[in-house]
Amino acid sequence: MSYKSDIEIAREAKKKPIQEIGDKLGIPTEHLLPYGHDKAKVSQEYINSVQGNKTGKLILVTAINPTPAGEGKTTTTVGLGDGLNRIGKKAMICIREASLGPNFGMKGGAAGGGYAQVVPMEDMNLHFTGDFHAITSAHSLLSAMIDNHIYWGNELDIDVRRVVWRRVVDMNDRALRQINVSLGGVANGFPREGGFDITVASEVMAILCLANNLKDLEKRLGDMIVAYRRDRSPVFCRDIQAAGAMTVLLKDAMQPNLVQTLENNPAFVHGGPFANIAHGCNSVTATTTALKIADYVVTEAGFGADLGAEKFMNIKCRKAGLAPDCVVLVATVRAMKMNGGVAKADLGAENVDAVKEGCSNLGRHIGNLKSFGVPVVVAINHFVNDTDAEVEAVKDYVKSQGSEAILSRHWELGSEGSTDLAKRVAEIADSGVSQFSPIYPDDMSLWDKINRIAKSIYRADEVMADKKVRDQLKQWEDQGYGNLPICMAKTQYSFTTDPTRRGAPTGHSVPIREVRLSAGAGFVVVVCGEIMTMPGLPSRPAAESIHLNDDGMIEGLF
Ligand code: ADP
Ligand code: MG
Repeated sequence: MSYKSDIEIAREAKKKPIQEIGDKLGIPTEHLLPYGHDKAKVSQEYINSVQGNKTGKLILVTAINPTPAGEGKTTTTVGLGDGLNRIGKKAMICIREASLGPNFGMKGGAAGGGYAQVVPMEDMNLHFTGDFHAITSAHSLLSAMIDNHIYWGNELDIDVRRVVWRRVVDMNDRALRQINVSLGGVANGFPREGGFDITVASEVMAILCLANNLKDLEKRLGDMIVAYRRDRSPVFCRDIQAAGAMTVLLKDAMQPNLVQTLENNPAFVHGGPFANIAHGCNSVTATTTALKIADYVVTEAGFGADLGAEKFMNIKCRKAGLAPDCVVLVATVRAMKMNGGVAKADLGAENVDAVKEGCSNLGRHIGNLKSFGVPVVVAINHFVNDTDAEVEAVKDYVKSQGSEAILSRHWELGSEGSTDLAKRVAEIADSGVSQFSPIYPDDMSLWDKINRIAKSIYRADEVMADKKVRDQLKQWEDQGYGNLPICMAKTQYSFTTDPTRRGAPTGHSVPIREVRLSAGAGFVVVVCGEIMTMPGLPSRPAAESIHLNDDGMIEGLF
């Protein structure tokens, strides 16, 4: 049997006008700012007006450590949202926007897959409503103003060797990672080294996603550190006086984007911070607004639960006053097999023993999530070649861990395939059993917070760091940043810092390479291993086969 590609399915979608989707949520037409027929921003006025409403139930979708087999968090988020609607619940989903750059590198969109997708998927994966362009512009304005300040006499006494504010573009372009700027003579300023990151790695992106409102956005932008003086004292964005104009550029981008699923259910697609040097989930504005206009909100955190869910809870929930009512941990039979030692090429054949062998990774995530006080249900994202015996093996294992696993077939069947999952998740969310709390308090030292994460989530024996790193943390504490949460940046493929160590390793140590302060976003980034903030394209980029066909439709995108 052959299956349609994601884009073929998306193209057949019977989309409703976006006003009808808004209507389902009770959003009056005048508060929907349409971008074409099938996308709209929700007005700031309306967002303000719903703050007094009762708060719906929050459901987080996360996953085991990713394998090349694919797990399907977004697909499951969309499938579960549709499933909840199907059983009569007023539910919506909240996911991230896609970065333009990766589309042209490797195939793989950000809108879900199969019969669990958000549409219009081409728009969502390309320019969408222009939010990322606005972020690029706001970021670039600050870059230009810093070099301009230096050019006109450098009143702030910026050490040109210590400008930490880089430039951004939403493209995978490795040639820009390290560059020289202001070359070409006196009229062009003072030559110095610079470089580009991809837009989603900008601190502006993280701020847009964590800010509570436009005032908060402006304040946080002003708090960003852009450079240091020779005496190492920080120069802030507010010293450059850029935050006001940046906020003006970001005004529309702060409003969540409403779109629909293939089954015409509402979805906010808003914000898209990196999941390594940032926290990796959609905007606080979208999530909190959704909770005021829907009874159930399903949202996703990037990477595996050791990074994505940990940061969702310790950073986003803490800062925005959110508390998940249920966590859905996505696992696949294929990923269990890979964790159990099966090569990617052999995933097609039944192998119950390998499934059993690979379940330890799943087990550890279950335990970790429970340590936040939240109820966990495992969703087995069904692939059509999974056998019953393999599925049973996962279910049995999860049962032995004191949890439950539910098979979900949303990719193949849409909401018809996810009603069991939806029923159980609604039941758990309604039961009020969640006793959420972050796993470390604000007032713990930065070093202790890092140790808490490494030991209780990664199950490492120790954290290793040079005196330089520890001194830096101490200095930030002295400067008043000690109450910030930690944003871990490590490989998504393993609990350890070694991407090849699958399963549930113990006895490892976590070496810290460097620490960075995102003073505006409000977290301390702890870098463990190689972190790429400007990806490159592969030898045969997907862009080579993307084109418009004779009917003007996009070909080659997924
Ligand atoms: P994640 O959010 O975890 O990165 P996605 O949900 O975006 O993963 O899915 C990644 C890819 O895997 C998509 O192209 C999607 O179509 C595919 N996929 C997801 N679930 C299934 C499934 N059950 N069967 C087949 N393909 C799937
Ligand atoms: Mg995803």
